Amino acid sequence: MTNQNSGMDDKRNLAEQRAVELKSKIQPYLDAREGIPTGMKLADQYKIQKQKILKLLGGTEEDWNDWHWQVKNRFGDVEQLSKILNLSEEEKQQIAAVGERFRWAASPYYVSLMDPDDKDCPVRRQAIPSVHELQDHMGKDDPMGEEFTSPVPSITRRYPDRLIIKVTNQCAMYCRHCQRRRNIGEIDKGTPKEQLEGALEYVRNHPEIRDVLLTGGDAFMLNEEVLDWLLGELNKIEHVEVKRLGTRTLVTMPQRVTPELCNILEKHHPVYVNTHFNNPKEITQEVAEACDKLTKAGVPIGNQAVLLKGINNDPHVMKKLNHELLKVRIRPYYIFHAKPVTGTAHFITRVEEGIAIMEALRGQTSGLAIPTYIINAPNGYGKTPMLPEYLISSGKDYITIRTWEGRVMQYPNLENI
Ligand SMILES: *Cc1c(COP(=O)(O)O)cnc(C)c1O
Repeated sequence: MTNQNSGMDDKRNLAEQRAVELKSKIQPYLDAREGIPTGMKLADQYKIQKQKILKLLGGTEEDWNDWHWQVKNRFGDVEQLSKILNLSEEEKQQIAAVGERFRWAASPYYVSLMDPDDKDCPVRRQAIPSVHELQDHMGKDDPMGEEFTSPVPSITRRYPDRLIIKVTNQCAMYCRHCQRRRNIGEIDKGTPKEQLEGALEYVRNHPEIRDVLLTGGDAFMLNEEVLDWLLGELNKIEHVEVKRLGTRTLVTMPQRVTPELCNILEKHHPVYVNTHFNNPKEITQEVAEACDKLTKAGVPIGNQAVLLKGINNDPHVMKKLNHELLKVRIRPYYIFHAKPVTGTAHFITRVEEGIAIMEALRGQTSGLAIPTYIINAPNGYGKTPMLPEYLISSGKDYITIRTWEGRVMQYPNLENI
């Protein structure tokens, strides 16, 4: 009896020691977390900015919640922006100069998340032109060679069983790091109906396509009628098992998630949504409400972040981002390495930074909070996962592994025959 008890005590002691050790591993993150701004923590500041913007635009609370008002009132003029953000003369000139070359526009909602005094604010840097955009001599307009993987207009096909249809070039905000800047002209245009018909016809004629992604631009910029029609047509194609919508409106204009939109999505299940949050400052109460509506309509939501210098190239920030996403029921799906697109060189990190982030996530936090880090191969040859090495070597009867803490161990590699 006594012996058994002391055996249990020993085990308990070891478990206690291990718990202390585990706590010490997370301490650097717990310390850093305090200093990471989040949309939830900044709610009061966002409200002040929102009131300032409503006053400037002569809008009401009801206007603010109307996505058509948000689109119509997108900021895109530096003088107007300077009434909301504190911009120096030099910054104003630079924004205007870059704006001549690359379009910019941001919904009043997204502008309300910007720090008025900090030009390095991660929300600001994603939406407001930087002079660095004109100093990029490495980038290409179409580094993924999308133009070579388009069998019919508006379709990109790079994989055996799935493809994307670009349904519009419009967005609620034009990301400074956009991979399809070349398609973002000065004019917003939905893909013409005949072209969409052609794309649907391609899907109909290719029975191996079981997953169709509607993207753009931003698929949620389509009106309800067109979305309903497109999803309905895809639903009629027996071999299309899954429909996905790519949208950043959850981040830049959560007002877009209306009951009418949810009703339409619900009619055409299975429908998945993938969105694009890059920084914890973007996850607000409004976002939580939009996600609540979507998930209640049965739509699973995934996130595709892009690794961007000064925005999320920090293991603590990326971890916090993924935790904030899970709280609003968005599953982290991918982290993309930034592509060498013209005018975006100032955002691009080294691949080692992405690997270090993955290393800082695995084991340290829930598997649910761990997306896959992806490099897109040149010429449209596809998404390629990048990950830290956990398999050190393979022998005949054993493999050598490295655990998330860096313990090197042998593991039997045997088959019972
Ligand atoms: C990213 C992408 C897809 C979807 O890939 P998943 O790994 O299934 O999310 C499909 N088609 C194209 C052209 C893509 O770029």
